[in-house]
Amino acid sequence: MTQDSEKPNAAGAESGEPAAEPKPAPKRRQRGRVFINEERCKGCGLCITFCPTHVLERASRFNTRGYHPPVATHPENCTGCDICGHFCPDYAIYGVRLAEPGKPKESKDDDKD
Ligand code: SF4
Ligand code: SF4
Repeated sequence: MTQDSEKPNAAGAESGEPAAEPKPAPKRRQRGRVFINEERCKGCGLCITFCPTHVLERASRFNTRGYHPPVATHPENCTGCDICGHFCPDYAIYGVRLAEPGKPKESKDDDKD
């Protein structure tokens, strides 16, 4: 019998071809990182308000000065734009861009070209 050598086209997905597995969603590269010095913070909230990708929220805890510092609740969204650092009156927060794979090192001057 030759039933294993050819199968009818009408079988569709059961035609012997392995079913294509769904590709996993590509992992998004994290572009930046935010650093927070909680003890310098006076809780004004400017960094939280002006972060364009909504990385930051007000922490429920207090720092030793009695203020609620920001906390990065969505660090994966940080682009390293440093807008938070530009608005902070107390130099308590800043962002840095992370190097792309294959690039030698991170630099704030990458965008100036
Ligand atoms: S802008 Fe600076 S002082 Fe104000 S909440 Fe953010 S880190 Fe604290
Ligand atoms: S560096 Fe930019 S994206 Fe990251 S937390 Fe600061 S303002 Fe938000």
